[in-house]
Amino acid sequence: MDHTPTAAQSKWLCVPQTIRLSGSGSLEVNQQLETLASQGAPQCWGSMNPDQTDRSSHIWSIEETKFAHRTMQIQFADQKQEFNKRPSKIGRRSLSRSISQSSTDSYSSAASYTDSSDDETSPRDKQQKNSKGNGDFCIKNIKQADFGRREIEIAEQEMPALMALRKRAQGEKPLAGAKVVGCTHITAQTAVLMETLSALGAQCRWAACNIYSTQNEVAAALAEGGFSVFAWKGESEDDFWWCIDRCVNVEGWQPNMILDDGGDLTHWIYKKYPNMFKKIKGIVEESVTGVHRLYQLSKAGKLCVPAMNVNDSVTKQKFDNLYCCRESILDGLKRTTDVMFGGKQVVVCGYGEVGKGCCAALKAMGSIVYVTEIDPICALQACMDGFRLVKLNEVIRQVDIVITCTGNKNVVVREYLDRMKNGCIVCNMGHSNTEIDVASLRTPELTWERVRSQVDHVIWPDGKRIVLLAEGRLLNLSCSTVPTFVLSITATTQALALIELYNAPEGRYKQDVYLLPKKMGKIYLIIHSRISTVFAYLCMYAYSVQHVVSIACHIS
Ligand code: NAD
Repeated sequence: MDHTPTAAQSKWLCVPQTIRLSGSGSLEVNQQLETLASQGAPQCWGSMNPDQTDRSSHIWSIEETKFAHRTMQIQFADQKQEFNKRPSKIGRRSLSRSISQSSTDSYSSAASYTDSSDDETSPRDKQQKNSKGNGDFCIKNIKQADFGRREIEIAEQEMPALMALRKRAQGEKPLAGAKVVGCTHITAQTAVLMETLSALGAQCRWAACNIYSTQNEVAAALAEGGFSVFAWKGESEDDFWWCIDRCVNVEGWQPNMILDDGGDLTHWIYKKYPNMFKKIKGIVEESVTGVHRLYQLSKAGKLCVPAMNVNDSVTKQKFDNLYCCRESILDGLKRTTDVMFGGKQVVVCGYGEVGKGCCAALKAMGSIVYVTEIDPICALQACMDGFRLVKLNEVIRQVDIVITCTGNKNVVVREYLDRMKNGCIVCNMGHSNTEIDVASLRTPELTWERVRSQVDHVIWPDGKRIVLLAEGRLLNLSCSTVPTFVLSITATTQALALIELYNAPEGRYKQDVYLLPKKMGKIYLIIHSRISTVFAYLCMYAYSVQHVVSIACHIS
């Protein structure tokens, strides 16, 4: 079967550039204020810098949900929502999403700066219209649109591939006639994707895949721009399904493409509107969970349209695992501990993609980095990269920081935790919550002291304490943000997958789950990077049929 894109499709296969590190939060300031407040000081402190608000508590909530959902068995959820029966206000504001399997493993860089907690009215009870009189949306507050627009413009700077796609779309519209129903995190980065899809000719209706991650101001900007968005931060379980239903259950409009993150939207359509699949040309799915559910459907012979597994695309994996972790390990450690990395002894367990990223970042900061590995090739790579290969028990007494990145379980067990030195920082960057045996620390002789959001001191009877971050869950997803550029890679891959599925000739894709890069043949990546006065334009033709990568480098 030939999966090489046609000339027209090839034109639309592109990608990206630069990276922004977010500043740290203001936990220390908050702590000081709390201390002062507890001493009777007045609590009327204003923030000197509006950007330095503590966003980690928000991210924590998302991670908590992620954790809860990850531990759930992946199966077809039997949703029990009845939309005729409007829940009580209290019920609707409950944030439990116990039934949903939703997106729990994709990234969101969501950091909503507009706290609308003062407005208690549910968006479902409001009648809002944008400046053009269109009211086909349900969001927190349309008045926040200007602020959201600025957020979107910032994100655009970091998403050059999508912007490049838009430019190329001026003449030809590869998604003309596409009616895309989406369910993803609604953030500035998603907005850039949606506006790109629109520029490519698609009509979009969108709901949030996570009840906490919507940036209300961004949703407002999208609604102002004419998008039918149904999402707000702090949806209840019932709101969540109601929003999804509003996206698909609409008179005179039927989706022909699905862009999902977690599989909830796909499964909602399967459950409630199976006939819609007659018109749907394909599903694009981002998350581990969603992809897993698609494979289950496929195995059961119930998948009735082709689906693209964006999650396992090589480009996305590289950025999620290696480059994202290389940045966010430092971000997460700094925000939680304010530790200085120079001169610190760090052991990194696992030298795969995530481990390589963590090691590189720490080495660059002047840390002395040890590596543990069980795979001989990765072990050799660690040696060749200048790291000292050790067994964990050889260094556990002396290291200042322990980081797990193995994807394995019980890598750091109680025996090691007992032997760590006072003040040792322990965190996980690998599999969700299995790598550090946190349960073994919940014994009567050990005292837990929460010192900050995401930071626990676990204290031994002799006074020794270790610093446990995010209770052994993923440090970066719990305690830092994800660079927009990483999300840009995902968004671009999603756009390409939609274009490919929508334009694929009959018979190219069957009712199965496909991996984007291998199946698409030729992906054409454009990377623009500006380094001081040098403008380098790299044009990489990757994944070509012959797997040839040719790089044209033009320096002006
Ligand atoms: P990988 O397979 O490339 O690397 C894991 C490495 O750990 C392998 O080399 C393996 O030999 C080694 N290993 C396994 N058990 C070990 C043990 N007991 N001691 C020492 N080494 C051991 O995987 P990866 O891409 O690096 O991902 C690792 C984990 O991180 C996965 O669970 C992945 O889901 C997760 N991940 C996290 C993030 C994040 O943002 N924190 C991003 C992507 C992936």
